[in-house]
Amino acid sequence: MAGRPKKEDSRDNQYRVRLNDDENEMLTYVSQMTEKAKSEVFRQALTELYHKTKLAEAMQDFAGESEEYDEHEPIWEDEHVSLRRTIDCPYCGHTHMMDFTDDSVDTSYERSMGAEILHEFDLDECVCDQCGKLFSVKGYISEYPMGCYNHEEINVEPIDDVEEGE
Ligand SMILES: [Zn+2]
Repeated sequence: MAGRPKKEDSRDNQYRVRLNDDENEMLTYVSQMTEKAKSEVFRQALTELYHKTKLAEAMQDFAGESEEYDEHEPIWEDEHVSLRRTIDCPYCGHTHMMDFTDDSVDTSYERSMGAEILHEFDLDECVCDQCGKLFSVKGYISEYPMGCYNHEEINVEPIDDVEEGE
């Protein structure tokens, strides 16, 4: 690279990221569906998280400086992470669109950048639109800082319906 003129915004920094199979599958999927290079998917996700984190920091500062700030009164409409997910039937694989917003129990823990919010849900009586069988959806979606997706765990289990009989 010696002697090569350096461009203003050249990408000289390299970062190696290890992915597990699930993450690799997600990356491939997003890359294919959005027709973006895998590296571009990372850059875009980073930029989005950067802006959201800056917003969360600004809200922290505002809350700390303002005497009139009421933590129960949002500065502007709180923008939470989406709790909508696609859930596949564990029997037939039919894809359902689910929104856990109304079914989640939220708990929050104070951390350095404000609260981490845990959205937990435990749905026992989901009925498949296609095969009519019952299944449960349990898990949580963690939001930290506010408005930023952190991590999640969602388990879909079949429920043996003895009353239906087969
Ligand atoms: Zn089904």
